[in-house]
Amino acid sequence: MSSEIKFRQNLRNRQKKRKFRHNIIITVLLFIIITVFLFCVKSIFPQKDNNDDIEFIFNGYVYPQPPQKSTNILSDLNSNDGIKTAYLTFDDGPNESVTPQVLDILRKYNVKATFFTVGSLIEQNPSVARRIYDEGHLIANHSYSHKYTELYADTQSFMNEIDYTNDIIKSIVCKENYPKIIRFPGGSFEIGSHAEVKKEVKTLLSENGYRYCDWNALTGDAESKSPSSEELMEKIKSTSNGKEDIVILMHDSVSKSITAQTLSQILDYLIGQGYTFDTLDEI
Ligand SMILES: [Zn+2]
Repeated sequence: MSSEIKFRQNLRNRQKKRKFRHNIIITVLLFIIITVFLFCVKSIFPQKDNNDDIEFIFNGYVYPQPPQKSTNILSDLNSNDGIKTAYLTFDDGPNESVTPQVLDILRKYNVKATFFTVGSLIEQNPSVARRIYDEGHLIANHSYSHKYTELYADTQSFMNEIDYTNDIIKSIVCKENYPKIIRFPGGSFEIGSHAEVKKEVKTLLSENGYRYCDWNALTGDAESKSPSSEELMEKIKSTSNGKEDIVILMHDSVSKSITAQTLSQILDYLIGQGYTFDTLDEI
């Protein structure tokens, strides 16, 4: 009888010990699970460092967060890095007469530029548009009709022209993901009779992944009917003076052969001033 009691006591002791070990294991497992969970949460969410630069920390590595790009490209110009950069832009092409002359000179100087093309003109001159792309320049979007009354009739008309021209550009470059950069015909300035439409479409452009770009320097090739090379040079000198980064407005439309004739002189001047060249998708 006493040995049976002893046996039962031993059995109870063993069961208690087993339960104790079981509880210890459960506690340790819970601790590991909670630690791993907290580490993952810390890895996923960004943390601010002392310099207020937002960084991502993942598995011990620190990655800088890519800067958010603005819809208005001009506001992202980095004009305080000590590097002088010129962004040449040519509006209102392509065509068979002036655009190839511009391309020949750019090739000679090994300089890349941005062409704000008109959709209806790409349809008329697809091989010239293709040459712009093949030679490493950026094809950007300058509406389909370039007719202010149609384009700025309302927000829907504007977006239809921009989207349609974007499709035409994609068919030329054969790329689904190509930079969606536009220039408002006449500029994005919210003045005059189209001010309200321009203001409203800026939100739509942003929502649809487009960025737009005006200019902060120009040759004035569209400011009078037949300007001289001297006038173009004077204008580029005065409007670029003292600026580290410049987006230069020029035109390669059929009536602007003066731009092609002066382009070598313009490039010589800018190179002499210490500028290097880039395309707008690099901003
Ligand atoms: Zn234009």
